[in-house]
Amino acid sequence: MMATIINLKQFKKQQLKKKNKARTLCNSGFHQWEIIDKNQFDVKKGQLITTYRCKQCNKIKTTAT
Ligand SMILES: [Zn+2]
Repeated sequence: MMATIINLKQFKKQQLKKKNKARTLCNSGFHQWEIIDKNQFDVKKGQLITTYRCKQCNKIKTTAT
């Protein structure tokens, strides 16, 4: 029982560390992009764009495709 509690504490600590590390990466410009919209037509630009969102900080970016 005691061991479980300690492990849980360590687990939470590790998760926090991971989160902090991810934030640091984002701040350094290393985002974890995932595509949320592919080949959408941007009327303003008159071209197809793909929209990405960072899994860590929810930042949005678009690129011309
Ligand atoms: Zn990010």
